[in-house]
Amino acid sequence: MRSHEAGAIHGQSGDRGPAWLKAPEDVNQLVPALWSSSVSKVDGVVTVAGESVLDIAQEFGTPTYVVDETDFRERARAFRDAFPSADVYYAAKAFMCTASARWIADEGLNIDVCSGGELAVALRAEFPPARIGLHGNNKSVAELRRALEVGVGRIIIDSYEEIDRINDLAAELGVTAKVMVRVTAGVEAHTHEYISTSHEDQKFGFSITGGDAREAVRRVLASPGMRLLGLHSHIGSQIFVTDGFEVAARRVLRLHADIAKELGYVAPELDLGGGFGIAYTTQDDPSTPLDLARGMLKIVDDECAALGIDVPHLSIEPGRAIAGPSTFTLYEVGTTKTVALDGGTSRRYVSVDGGMSDNIRTALYGADYSCTLASRASDVQPVLSRVVGKHCESGDIVVKDEFLPGDVAAGDLLAVPGTGAYCRSLASTYNHVPRAAVVAVRDGEARLIMRRETEDDLFTLDVG
Ligand SMILES: *Cc1c(COP(=O)(O)O)cnc(C)c1O
Repeated sequence: MRSHEAGAIHGQSGDRGPAWLKAPEDVNQLVPALWSSSVSKVDGVVTVAGESVLDIAQEFGTPTYVVDETDFRERARAFRDAFPSADVYYAAKAFMCTASARWIADEGLNIDVCSGGELAVALRAEFPPARIGLHGNNKSVAELRRALEVGVGRIIIDSYEEIDRINDLAAELGVTAKVMVRVTAGVEAHTHEYISTSHEDQKFGFSITGGDAREAVRRVLASPGMRLLGLHSHIGSQIFVTDGFEVAARRVLRLHADIAKELGYVAPELDLGGGFGIAYTTQDDPSTPLDLARGMLKIVDDECAALGIDVPHLSIEPGRAIAGPSTFTLYEVGTTKTVALDGGTSRRYVSVDGGMSDNIRTALYGADYSCTLASRASDVQPVLSRVVGKHCESGDIVVKDEFLPGDVAAGDLLAVPGTGAYCRSLASTYNHVPRAAVVAVRDGEARLIMRRETEDDLFTLDVG
């Protein structure tokens, strides 16, 4: 993904916007592909599962992340159903709280955590430990100890030091750790493109081409405190093409076959990672879980047949594709401004009551979002607008370019779809702005699942 330093984003788009952004025929209509299944507009007001955003804003305030619980569950189940013979691990880092962990458990998925904090939330939600996987390139001894004590189903090993640490802990606790070895296949996937590289300049995994992956497997197999489940490969996030995946799967399966041939160990499992893309704007055209499953399973079947090996038990790790589309962020507009641009054009700025503290992805990755006027219809001509937050950075942008009715004004509500993944989980209290609430809506009922932070919460940490 492209990345920008916060504060350094300047569009050259003027008042026409980027080429992909088309002026809407009816600015009051939603683009259904960008919204969760139970969202619609009734007389211009966004409603989710029968609950109007006017009521949500009144009861819970703004900004608020509004989760369509049924949609979240349906997406989890869709992956479960599309990969019936594989294990589906929800990547908790996309969005994690006790409620979402329970939804994932209810729908029969497993869960991946990558810190002691995420593990603690999963355990608090009474997630069955055998269905938890622990990730991370620098897990502490305390984190590993807790994972082994509670009996997590697998630990994904990411360094030589970790092999020794787990071995020591397993001996001390008298347990056998079930582990996978994370490998890098020399494939970097980005939105709409992938790069195949010969060496991997990143912190995750053991290199296949460099030989570290084989050495790590050798050491694990020689460790009495561990049982090797198999190899693990995750090539990136917000991926649309299967080409990068195909190259990576080939390389990983070849290593899997070599381990059987050279080391005499047939690993029972293989993890293919996550990273499946979602639609943030009309530029994105994601695959359904069923299409992904067909494509991925065919690649694996074909490659295993070519190598003359049995297909290992597979697992995948979707995060964003489950949580992302289920949620929109509800903001209230506070100020508007129109500024002159070079070339005689102008840009309309619409400021909302949140920003980079509740959604850092625009500033961090140059991510694109869309939005809609959520609290009323308008028959005023749409104007290309930039939705910005209330923080002290010029890069505090929520939606870089969107057509909004020209009369959007203070007191209006805006809704930004696709904010269920990597928004609340990356939220900060920058400028001492308390973190936003998360509300789950289901069958016409809105329920607080993470309350809004208060000034008292901020003071709790500031011990003077
Ligand atoms: C982040 C991550 C995922 C999930 O990525 P999404 O883009 O949210 O699907 C899966 N596996 C690993 C190892 C990850 O780090």
